[in-house]
Amino acid sequence: MPFTPIHMGPGFAIKSLLQKNFSLMVFGWSQIAIDIHPLFVILSGRGTVHGFSHTYLGATLIALFCALSGKYLGELGLRIIRKKEYLPINWNVAFISAFIGTYSHVLLDSVMHSDVIPFNPFWKSNILFSIVSVNTLHIFCLVSGLLGIVIYYLIEKPFTNK
Ligand SMILES: [Zn+2]
Repeated sequence: MPFTPIHMGPGFAIKSLLQKNFSLMVFGWSQIAIDIHPLFVILSGRGTVHGFSHTYLGATLIALFCALSGKYLGELGLRIIRKKEYLPINWNVAFISAFIGTYSHVLLDSVMHSDVIPFNPFWKSNILFSIVSVNTLHIFCLVSGLLGIVIYYLIEKPFTNK
């Protein structure tokens, strides 16, 4: 699902649990990067929309790219939005956030799209497709996002004086 913000819902939930050990900037960057390939396919009309980028093998390569580039892009983003207190993004956080980002993206898209073959080329099946309805999946993403935001501030507030 190219550039959909719906993937950010679980990201907020993960942020609420991992706090400083997770970067929403790097996670968000991974959501954009993994959907660049489907966007090109849609625009050009060539290839499989959810092809190699939406396999765990492709997601691994994209996560490595997003961790390496996302650390710097995320730090730039934090400077732009004037959140310097979150700088720097350390390398462990960049890698954890990028891998959670691309793997969770493939997992969610596996449920939603019939052309996602997550374990390609090793296994040509997608047992998660339609395991729940698209509506249920969207509700899960929205609720996890809202819960994540609430939990994040409940945990963060007592420990900071902002
Ligand atoms: Zn996608």
